[in-house]
Amino acid sequence: MSLDFVHETRPGRVVFAVGARHRLPEEVDRLGLRRLLVVSTPEQAALAAELTAPLGGRVAEPHPHATMHVPVAVAERAVARAREAGADGCLAVGGGSAIGLAKAVAKETGLPIVAVPTTYAGSEMTPIWGLTGADRKTTGRDPRVLPSTVVYDPELTVTLPPGLSVTSGMNALAHSAEALYAPDCSPVTALAAADSVRALAAALPRVAADPGDLEARSDALYGAWLAGTALGSTTMSLHHKLCHILGGTFDLPHAQTHTAVLPHVLALNLPAAPRARAALEHALGTENPAAHLFRLARDLGAEMSLKAMGMPEDGVETVVTQAFAAPYANPRPVTRTDLRRLLGDALAGTAPA
Ligand code: NAD
Repeated sequence: MSLDFVHETRPGRVVFAVGARHRLPEEVDRLGLRRLLVVSTPEQAALAAELTAPLGGRVAEPHPHATMHVPVAVAERAVARAREAGADGCLAVGGGSAIGLAKAVAKETGLPIVAVPTTYAGSEMTPIWGLTGADRKTTGRDPRVLPSTVVYDPELTVTLPPGLSVTSGMNALAHSAEALYAPDCSPVTALAAADSVRALAAALPRVAADPGDLEARSDALYGAWLAGTALGSTTMSLHHKLCHILGGTFDLPHAQTHTAVLPHVLALNLPAAPRARAALEHALGTENPAAHLFRLARDLGAEMSLKAMGMPEDGVETVVTQAFAAPYANPRPVTRTDLRRLLGDALAGTAPA
């Protein structure tokens, strides 16, 4: 097949090293920022304070109020604080929740973001924002929310508990897997996605065995960076659609939901996506990527049953209805029967068919 693609290179600077957090002052100065709103979750307020202490007067205000899925009220409060404090930038320390709140501020104010990620979710590499209203989560793309500088320091991930490290890594792997069969996957994105799968799958067992193993942490974070890039460059398919619905409808935990759903979606989609299948087989060193990822996650202690996470048995029909309510990209057409079977398996936590 001859090549036919569009590849857009996004702006943004990435600094990656064990100890890279010590370079924050020079990175902030490089952007000319003088009054930062420092965003984190309440649990990571102390870490944010420690990281920003060397910034001295360049911190206008700490704002440790990020929560999962960026509720509208939480976003409005952060935007108001940024304006009242005369902030000229947002520094986000943490996972997708902290970075998501900084993005909500950037979307309204245009302020540049410096991100210091501490999970593998990958939001720091995407122009995607999300906001949760009373009954549903809305997402969109806006180049203004793409962080200007991302400082990756694997040392900051050693405190991520082994269980969350595994599921967060699977969340990253899901970005790369769906990027590989995305309608807008370019050859460069495919290379990044495939190497991210290889790096994450090899690193996660080492991270789970020894959360302080900095080489393993470095490999996993490298995989997460590439996965975030792939997510930001492509259109996601059935897997991300289902996880979005499941998270929004039943308030299921983000990374864990991705972990339980991914093997089932791949079992359904890969027969219709030969290039993605070949790339995953090669990256994982297996002839059955779906079964391999199910075993990998389960053997590292991940919960594979959506029911155990809190999804009600009669929730399957709700998800099926929502999934059919709006179109989405997918390498193959999906019937209601397919979806019922897939969700039933993920609900029970059985291996993919
Ligand atoms: P999270 O940011 O909610 O973090 C989970 C918990 O772990 C939090 O309590 C946090 O304080 C804690 N934590 C984070 N890093 C830690 C560390 N190193 N040590 C100890 N504790 C740590 O979880 P997440 O999975 O990173 O992000 C999920 C959110 O991000 C979801 O809302 C999801 O929709 C969003 N997301 C958005 C994008 C995007 O492109 N916009 C991409 C991926 C995820």
